[in-house]
Amino acid sequence: MIWYPYEQMKTMNAPFKVVDAEGVYIYTEDGNKMIDSISSWWSMIHGYKNPEIGDAIKTQVDKFSHVMLGGLTHEPVQKLAAKLKDWLPGDLDYCFFSDSGSVAVEVSLKMALQYYVNQGDLTRTKVLGLKEAYHGDTFKAMEVGDDSDYHYILSAYGPKTGAINIPTEIPALEEAFREHHHELNAMIVEPLLQGAGGMLMYDIEFLKRARELCDEYDVLLIFDEVATGFGRTGNRFVADVVLPDILVLGKGLTGGYIGHAATIANHKVFDKFWSEDDGKALMHGPTFMGNALACSAALKSIEIFEREDYMSKIKRIEEIARRELAELTERNDPRIKEIRIMGGCACIEVYDPETLAGFQKFAAERGVFNRPFLSFMYTMVPYIITEEELVKIYTVFKDWFKL
Ligand SMILES: *Cc1c(COP(=O)(O)O)cnc(C)c1O
Repeated sequence: MIWYPYEQMKTMNAPFKVVDAEGVYIYTEDGNKMIDSISSWWSMIHGYKNPEIGDAIKTQVDKFSHVMLGGLTHEPVQKLAAKLKDWLPGDLDYCFFSDSGSVAVEVSLKMALQYYVNQGDLTRTKVLGLKEAYHGDTFKAMEVGDDSDYHYILSAYGPKTGAINIPTEIPALEEAFREHHHELNAMIVEPLLQGAGGMLMYDIEFLKRARELCDEYDVLLIFDEVATGFGRTGNRFVADVVLPDILVLGKGLTGGYIGHAATIANHKVFDKFWSEDDGKALMHGPTFMGNALACSAALKSIEIFEREDYMSKIKRIEEIARRELAELTERNDPRIKEIRIMGGCACIEVYDPETLAGFQKFAAERGVFNRPFLSFMYTMVPYIITEEELVKIYTVFKDWFKL
């Protein structure tokens, strides 16, 4: 039996069984055709069955699908690391691959801790994070996160000791640094857009101030751009605007075709590991890191992203969302708390989660796959979506609130 994610297995609705998918469309066994309005957990940025990515994977399959990176290396992983070095801002040049976003977050936190341990400092053991943060479902990722809906299990251990979570407000940030700077090794954030916490959006000024304080107290700044990377906020990467010391990428990295992630460090971090001393090496090595199929897919995905000018597509997606949802804002529906739009993400937050009960089925019957959670109904569309398809999604959203 399949144990499905985030579900009470006893009471969950049966999932839709997919038999085919192409472009923005998912085709189900019962003959339904739905627009995927959330890009398979925000990853499928080019849509399904992209022929170029498919061919890149097939070509690599005919050579080899995977070899370990311990003692071996290969062209797809070398090319991807070189591409990321060129493509990413600043001196984010040292790329550690892993198989999922959560693991890549774990790696970033291990790097930050060891950055200090390698300097003989064992006192910098804490991490500053944000309220409502989500960094994945592994244990340290849960600890630096702050989302009771995902992380409540940790309360069994008692109050957490390794992380401090603050709201996205500059006074709280300054106070946290004043009080805790001597024990912090890193600050980790989902920059500008906190996804699983409820598509919460905050101002770039907060990140600029965080960068200043991290510099002042030599605390490493980690951007978890697993969700925000590859254009989702309307920036290619938020790291283009404020430069972190460590950048974490996942989800859209392979265009959503194969699970893969990367933790990319700058020179300052890497230098503290560079030594004659084996004890200063980074002791981490996921079995499937640098998988050749994943790297081939990622290279092709980035090539398409650049060539097809995805940033202008994302700008258009944002404009259409603003236009289409304006009517809902004007209606002043008492059930709606706030409508938030940023780049390729739009969210309608309601007061009562019950307001969204039954919406998934309603949308599916109208040709849209959506998956609201808690009090959040949102879109994270594939960037290849047409205006007509976007209008269709938002019409279904608006029709729900006419009921
Ligand atoms: C999805 C997500 C992760 C976890 O990635 P997985 O590949 O699911 O392990 C981590 N951080 C953020 C911000 C995410 O949205």
